[in-house]
Amino acid sequence: MADSYEPLILIISGPSGSGKSTLVKKLLELPGTMLSISATTRPPRPGERDGEWYHFVSDTQFRAMVERGEFLEHACVFGRHSYGTPKKWLDEARAQRRDLVLEIDVQGAEQVRAKLPEAVAIFIVPPSREELEKRIRARGQDGEEEIRRRLERARLEMERYLDYDYVVINEDVGRAGEAVKAIALGARSETKRNRERVRQILKSFGG
Ligand code: 5GP
Repeated sequence: MADSYEPLILIISGPSGSGKSTLVKKLLELPGTMLSISATTRPPRPGERDGEWYHFVSDTQFRAMVERGEFLEHACVFGRHSYGTPKKWLDEARAQRRDLVLEIDVQGAEQVRAKLPEAVAIFIVPPSREELEKRIRARGQDGEEEIRRRLERARLEMERYLDYDYVVINEDVGRAGEAVKAIALGARSETKRNRERVRQILKSFGG
């Protein structure tokens, strides 16, 4: 019997500048993983291509997607733009028998965990406020006011870290990358996640 694959859902959250996206890329190096591409009303930044990391939509399109019930979760992030995880990625992951990586904020993570309690959530923490500020400044994207807001938001988000199964302090990107991969591999091998497959194997023994 071809067993159906129930994808592992890996949620990654963390403040902007924590190195989250780099760590998501590391995770995607693991065979058998795929990225959930969020829909967002935020305009693309220079160099961002539609469909690569985000699907850029208008407010009207986003609202229509909400009304059609197309999202697994959606949220207005920092009172500015809307972001959502289309449910279709879950079907896609199931069809491709791959695990699904969701890079979403703390509100989205809460919604996903309410619907899919078996999801594994990882929170990425910068090593210090100073380091986060340095990284945000190095990106050269923001003015003083925006930097101040990002740091305040970072604090608010980090206060939610206890809602997550794992925290990875991103002090050294190489080590943090290994940590997120190890979490994913460990979660894949959890007994409860493999019961049905092992049952099938046992059956082949005539058990
Ligand atoms: P940015 O606009 O800088 O790419 O992302 C801003 C925030 O939105 C980040 O914290 C990111 O994790 C979050 N985000 C990205 N996609 C989604 C999504 O589909 N749902 C939710 N809830 N948050 C998202």
